[in-house]
Amino acid sequence: MIDEQRLIELFLHLASLDAPSLEERAVADAVKAELTSLGLDVAEDDAASRIGGTTGNLLCRVPANWALQDLPDAGKPSGQEVAFRQDQAALLFSTHLDTVQPCRGKHVFLGDDRIFRSDGTTILGADDLAGVSAVLALLHELRDRKMPHRPLELLFSVAEEVHLQGISVFDTHVLKAREGYVLDTSGAPGIGVIAAPGHVHLHFEVHGRPAHAGIAPETGISAIAVAAQGIARMQLGRIDPETTANIGRIEGGGETNIVAASCKVTAECRSLDPQRLTAQVQHMVDCMELAAAGAGASVTVQTHASYHPYRVDPDQPVARRFQVACIAIGKSARLIATGGGSDLNVLSRAGLSGMVLSCGMQQVHSNAENLALDDLSDLVLLLQALVDAPF
Ligand SMILES: [Zn+2]
Repeated sequence: MIDEQRLIELFLHLASLDAPSLEERAVADAVKAELTSLGLDVAEDDAASRIGGTTGNLLCRVPANWALQDLPDAGKPSGQEVAFRQDQAALLFSTHLDTVQPCRGKHVFLGDDRIFRSDGTTILGADDLAGVSAVLALLHELRDRKMPHRPLELLFSVAEEVHLQGISVFDTHVLKAREGYVLDTSGAPGIGVIAAPGHVHLHFEVHGRPAHAGIAPETGISAIAVAAQGIARMQLGRIDPETTANIGRIEGGGETNIVAASCKVTAECRSLDPQRLTAQVQHMVDCMELAAAGAGASVTVQTHASYHPYRVDPDQPVARRFQVACIAIGKSARLIATGGGSDLNVLSRAGLSGMVLSCGMQQVHSNAENLALDDLSDLVLLLQALVDAPF
């Protein structure tokens, strides 16, 4: 059993603070205070100035067997166990401090049904304060249980909800862990995301030729018509089981008596497979360029890889450890692929072998967001089992 009352207080305290993306100061200070009170050092990087926020990413290193350091020798576990943990590789637990809007002035509470909710006028913030409070509770539990443990790295990123901005400027070279878990997806604990798509943003600007639409339309080239032809040539929607593509916005032209000189189109594609992602981007660019060339127009294209895909083999240690930990707490593990991005898309590009784990949060990014206390407790137990795994 874990200390449920402490967990409730940790979560309610963090969730009561305002933490919109780029304004995470209050919740970051609360996390720092908690870690400092446990005798741990926290480093804050320079993300605030680099992305225009108030707060940097926090990194806390928990040395192996930190939880035993204040124990008298007589109270310490066997030297063999302690030495074994000392030599184990570091494990990373990563969460994010910011929440989506509306999140100012939250009133959060635990209902008689043991479910955390807001009063309905804001989100709850379980995304991702469930993960944050579980990590903090884990440290207390390790210490209360006098548990020998491997070294840990705890990363608390900022501005995750606004295109992973915080983690994108984090210096991943400082991480010692080669494996880790990002605690940041919906559902009761037991779900592990082993694959997520890469995401590319496309921006087209078609340049036609303006003309009077009534007097000399034949001298003009409609950028809108060209963009429409380019889009009509594209394969969009679900391209294959792992790849999707979508047009986000089309805008251009002016008065009806002018053949439109310019038209802008934004689009995206996602794929779990880096090659198919590249191929789909190229296909969309080709379609627009062909349409422009056919009409005597031109097009400028900008593509931006917002994040990169990752995939972990279920036999890799990071996935096996998760499955072992689920069994240890009486849950069955479910390994899935997802369509969304997370900090792991950035961390895995830096060489981290990792998974995103479900944290109990439900109906995230809505005012109906909620979190069952029992799921949050299970998350703490799951983290403990991950730390305790023999590999
Ligand atoms: Zn999240």
